[in-house]
Amino acid sequence: MSLDHNKIELIMRLRAEGVRDTRVLEAIEKVPRESFLPDHLQDQAYADHALPIECGQTISQPFLVGLMTHQLNLTDRTKVLEVGTGSGYQAAVLSHVCRRVYTIERFHSLAKQADERFRQLARRNITTMTGDGTKGWPAQAPFERIIVTAAAMDKVPPALIEQLAVGGEMIIPVEYAPGRQELRRIVRTDEGFETERLLPVRFVPLIEGVAKDA
Ligand code: SAH
Repeated sequence: MSLDHNKIELIMRLRAEGVRDTRVLEAIEKVPRESFLPDHLQDQAYADHALPIECGQTISQPFLVGLMTHQLNLTDRTKVLEVGTGSGYQAAVLSHVCRRVYTIERFHSLAKQADERFRQLARRNITTMTGDGTKGWPAQAPFERIIVTAAAMDKVPPALIEQLAVGGEMIIPVEYAPGRQELRRIVRTDEGFETERLLPVRFVPLIEGVAKDA
């Protein structure tokens, strides 16, 4: 079966599972997921599951990429911070439905590889940085939207909460008990913060500090 055919099947499946936002589905259609995968996994590019990438990390499941992008309520004027660049796939999808994406990865080799992919695909509205995403990106704060694609252990990093604009929203997986994670939306209002629990998920952990890869 060709990759194009598999991609159409995947998009129909995401729609059936509840990702009905046309802009998000169009973004998923535009981004070649195979470009974000190692060579030996090319044939699985449009299967709806997470896959292993370099540095022991994962590329997120397409359904979750679609759902999280939809849940962020983006417009073409929004500036987004992503924590956990990984392969770069989620950032590439975001870049089609918002104004600008700032993405941070703790493995330098992953950040560099993702940045090269963005260049090859002419995604000019993505800025990539190697760093500790639990500290956010102070020079670019505040952010109207923040998406974290690694699971916070129990507690949402305070720097990310501080860097959320008033009226802003954050989507973040939180491990609230051993092996139990849920996706949460945190909204910053004039008075404080509101938290909404979305669905059970499984992400690699959010780890403090920059990784020691070459
Ligand atoms: N959005 C990615 C998913 C990658 S998995 C994609 O579409 O492929 C989560 C990523 O978060 C991993 O690459 C991991 O190294 C990274 N990560 C974990 N803790 C981090 C931190 N404190 N700062 C930045 N990146 C982090």
